[in-house]
Amino acid sequence: MIKTPAYAAAVAKAPLAPLFIERREPGPHDVLIEILYCGVCHSDIHQVRDEWAAGIFPMVPGHEIVGRIAKVGDKVTRFKVGDLAGVGCFVDSCRECPECKAGLEQYCQVGPNWTYNCRERDGKTPTYGGYSTRIVVDEQYTLRVSSKLTLEGVAPLLCAGITTYSPLRHWKVGRGQRIGVLGLGGLGHMAVKLAASFGAEVTVFSTSPSKQADAKRLGAHQFALTTQGGTMKSLAHRFDFIIDTVSAPHDHGAYLDTLKTDGVMVCVGIPTAPLSVPPFSLIAGRRSVAGSGIGGIAETQEMLDYCAAHNITSDVEVVPIQQINAAYERVIKGQVKYRFVIDIASLK
Ligand code: NAP
Ligand code: ZN
Ligand code: ZN
Repeated sequence: MIKTPAYAAAVAKAPLAPLFIERREPGPHDVLIEILYCGVCHSDIHQVRDEWAAGIFPMVPGHEIVGRIAKVGDKVTRFKVGDLAGVGCFVDSCRECPECKAGLEQYCQVGPNWTYNCRERDGKTPTYGGYSTRIVVDEQYTLRVSSKLTLEGVAPLLCAGITTYSPLRHWKVGRGQRIGVLGLGGLGHMAVKLAASFGAEVTVFSTSPSKQADAKRLGAHQFALTTQGGTMKSLAHRFDFIIDTVSAPHDHGAYLDTLKTDGVMVCVGIPTAPLSVPPFSLIAGRRSVAGSGIGGIAETQEMLDYCAAHNITSDVEVVPIQQINAAYERVIKGQVKYRFVIDIASLK
């Protein structure tokens, strides 16, 4: 076993603190990655605070991992020592269900083996995430990372990037379409960059007036301050597609009325409260509400390659791991611009 420094929540809602974990020695198909950067996703906060379900503790969060290969198993063909590599939200899946076979491992019927707060395929060993100095992953669940982009800016692509890229591609968002992005946080700012790069006209819906100039800089064409009276009414029947990235409970129905006939609102944010959707807002305009979860391995690779080709990275604030608890508080207040990324060198 490989003794590995990490940061963990000992029990639900506890602040994160140093902990040594053990990684397995790489098997024939595994790679050992020395982690360089790990992004801080709002899902990390939901999970260490048990906001979705009872978690597995101690919990080492982190699923936006970028690092360098330090060791490869003798059957590994896609990576060599020294290569850059990425790991996203899952490290394995059943590999046999129709979803796994179709490259939709994120929807594995058995359930993907999530990067943390889960168990490995043996059903026993807990998985630990990227707030740690190294990770051992099967090469099939490891992504190739280009050296063209800044690595700290690439880390958030492994979750925030793919979670927004996948639905934008699935619903064929592009030129000639008007789209709305709800919430300008980690996911939201990636949705703006990607949708704008696909040629769509983008409007940001935000509760934060201070983000207006940034929205434009990131590629948005318009900014709608949702806390201002009259904003929603002025945008009625305007959008082909909305991507909702909001992390806290909110009024989904209010946004439906801003969709055109046949418009689609895709929820990617995961607040704790169930959605409440007025039937008339759906019926008037044959509108749909849908959901979308991260992306499969092949699509995540496609997204990373697209971002490398188009020079797209996340706007990040790099922090040492010792500041993680304060960083969480700023994420909850919607104050990060636009993703915290942990410099894992601070843990060594
Ligand atoms: P984040 O950086 O905290 O961004 C969320 C944004 O939502 C905030 O910046 C804020 O934007 C807005 N917001 C926050 N509280 C709000 C409230 N009470 N009312 C209205 N707007 C509010 O979070 P994130 O990392 O982007 O994650 C967003 C959500 O997606 C989380 O629930 C996360 O768990 C989920 N997620 C889902 C997937 C998936 O596969 N579906 C993957 C990753 C994350 P403004 O300041 O602009 O209003
Ligand atoms: Zn995430
Ligand atoms: Zn499966």
